[in-house]
Amino acid sequence: MNTETMQSGVEFSLNENQKMITQMIKDFGEQHIKPKMMEWDESQEFPVDVFKKLGELGLMGVLVPESYGGSGFSYAEYVTVVSEISKIDGSIGLSVAAHNSLCTGHILQFGSEEQKQKYLAKLATAEHIGAWGLTEPNTGSDSGNMRTTAVLDGDEWVLNGTKNFITHAISGDIVVVIVRTGEVGDSHGMSAFIVERGTAGFSGGKKENKLGMRASETAELVFDDCRIPKENMLGKEGEGFIQAMKVLDGGRISIASLGLGIAKGAYEAALAYSKERHQFNKPISSFQGISFKLAEMATKVEAAELLIFKSAHLKDSGQKVTEVSAKAKYYASEIAVEVSTDAVQIFGGYGYTKDFPAEKYYRDSKLCTIGEGTSEIQKLVIARELLN
Ligand SMILES: Cc1cc2nc3c(=O)[nH]c(=O)nc-3n(C[C@H](O)[C@H](O)[C@H](O)COP(=O)(O)OP(=O)(O)OC[C@H]3O[C@@H](n4cnc5c(N)ncnc54)[C@H](O)[C@@H]3O)c2cc1C
Repeated sequence: MNTETMQSGVEFSLNENQKMITQMIKDFGEQHIKPKMMEWDESQEFPVDVFKKLGELGLMGVLVPESYGGSGFSYAEYVTVVSEISKIDGSIGLSVAAHNSLCTGHILQFGSEEQKQKYLAKLATAEHIGAWGLTEPNTGSDSGNMRTTAVLDGDEWVLNGTKNFITHAISGDIVVVIVRTGEVGDSHGMSAFIVERGTAGFSGGKKENKLGMRASETAELVFDDCRIPKENMLGKEGEGFIQAMKVLDGGRISIASLGLGIAKGAYEAALAYSKERHQFNKPISSFQGISFKLAEMATKVEAAELLIFKSAHLKDSGQKVTEVSAKAKYYASEIAVEVSTDAVQIFGGYGYTKDFPAEKYYRDSKLCTIGEGTSEIQKLVIARELLN
């Protein structure tokens, strides 16, 4: 990237914090992620200890103000955290993103002072791992049609139902869950609650066996007459779905950064390999068919980065980001799949094996076009904003 500044004030060069974070993650990745990541991928192990260590580095409470025990960074630094980790391992990137922007982000945005004091510091240091449950088996894109319920009984809410595809559903210590407290079809008929691990009637369910992102735990959350105190509601009754949509506005920047990191990792690996691999007595990078692919990959990566930088800049300056963050999420996710597919092609047969990094980027990238709103839903959001 060059060092120009856009008229809007967006800096194209990395600030000192971003440079420090990039180096810190690079060093951390060499020591704690790279040596084990293929093992975790094979066995679908969710490496909890790695998240505890990331917590010690301040990377599990990136956006949490220092007064609540976090790092107090802005979205600019947050994008660097998620993309640099995802450049090494998308699974770890996905879990860091879900913990920071979904669970912790929801409590940060909508929690009462008491809830923030109680939960944020432990989430920011990763003493507690966070999960966030919106999706249900029959309601994904149409999440507002959810069927899990909470009914008030005296001073307690009683939760019943199942959420699925939830990141950290088994290992999470603190779960923010959005459930129905009113009529089906009423966007004000849902509320958000904090549920602590160990609460009777609350358990993790079936763990998914996935194509990619295999070291990030994805499972069911099961509520069976789960009683939680009244004060665990986030905000007011009926605000849960609207809160969730606002959390997802920021979440889109997370998943866009995840896609960006995967695309960058795949591109850089393919670029290096194309210079080393010789066929017909020449490096394969000297063939126009390969160099044009690299040119396209580099252009896509930079365009995605610019959309993400713009989203982060607008978010940091308190402006509405619904449209631009949907564009960033849509574009970065799609190009993550395209760039990692081209990377496999550049690696040839070796790209199809687990001895080289291309196949993992390829498998991990596909989640980006699905999680936190599919590409089709992003286009729906963008179109709605354009036509409004
Ligand atoms: C690894 C992983 C981690 C996840 N983590 C979490 C988490 O932590 N918390 C959480 O709550 N959820 C999580 N999810 C769920 C994720 O957000 C949903 O999978 C996603 O929103 C899509 O929902 P669905 O899978 O039910 O697909 P569906 O909604 O059934 O969609 C199926 C297809 O139909 C298309 N479609 C649906 N509606 C429309 C429409 N109106 N117009 C055009 N096309 C449409 C979709 O784009 C898609 O192609 C996770 C999922 C995965 C795979």
